Amino acid sequence: MTHMQKKINSVTQKIAYAAAQVQRNADQIQLLAVSKTKPVNLIKQAYHEGLRHFGENYVQESVEKIKKINDDSDFKEPIYWYFIGPLQSNKTRPVAEHFDWVQSVERLKIAQRLNQQRPPELPQLNICLQVNISGEASKSGTTLSQVIELASQVSDLPRLKLRGIMAIPEKTENIQRLEKQFDELHNIYQELKNIYPEVDTLSMGMSGDLESAIKCGSTMVRIGTDIFGSRD
Ligand SMILES: *Cc1c(COP(=O)(O)O)cnc(C)c1O
Repeated sequence: MTHMQKKINSVTQKIAYAAAQVQRNADQIQLLAVSKTKPVNLIKQAYHEGLRHFGENYVQESVEKIKKINDDSDFKEPIYWYFIGPLQSNKTRPVAEHFDWVQSVERLKIAQRLNQQRPPELPQLNICLQVNISGEASKSGTTLSQVIELASQVSDLPRLKLRGIMAIPEKTENIQRLEKQFDELHNIYQELKNIYPEVDTLSMGMSGDLESAIKCGSTMVRIGTDIFGSRD
């Protein structure tokens, strides 16, 4: 077994175990491999192990990698690219042109620009609203009180498709505190789902907290370190 195979097996086993603990089907939890700062050859190894969904944080770095991969005949099947990093309004165009998803939308202006810049020949851009669940001023994301309004504005933009919410919880060793935040996110997700039937994505859980996230209803975990190693 290759090193990459071992890493990915261990992550998928963790997901399966966490799902089984709460009688959930592991098929309902999408694994997003977060490849930020990692080179194309590592993405290729993960691709060869069957991964097709990749998350990136930095516009220039990711667009360079995506172009290389599009030109590389080793990648035969489509890959789905998710932008999950902070996005400034002057950098939206390359994201609208090269990604399938943006999970870090936190204000209307960014959504409007992505909507305008999404090329007409491509399908709608899938959107998750990033929610600042811990209320920390230093964290990106829209507040709990604003998320429903932002969702309503985004759902009116024709080139975007509202799929759900994404969040990075506060870093804490206190599992109860963490799971309380995940539960709150799950509640907003349900609320949104009741209004917008196409909403199907609750993106929460990273290498350090995927078990709690899955317990609280996550449908997508974003895993970097446990697949590709630490980023120093
Ligand atoms: C880097 C990053 C991840 C992956 O984090 P790991 O702890 O390495 O698994 C997930 N989500 C977002 C938004 C990130 O920026």
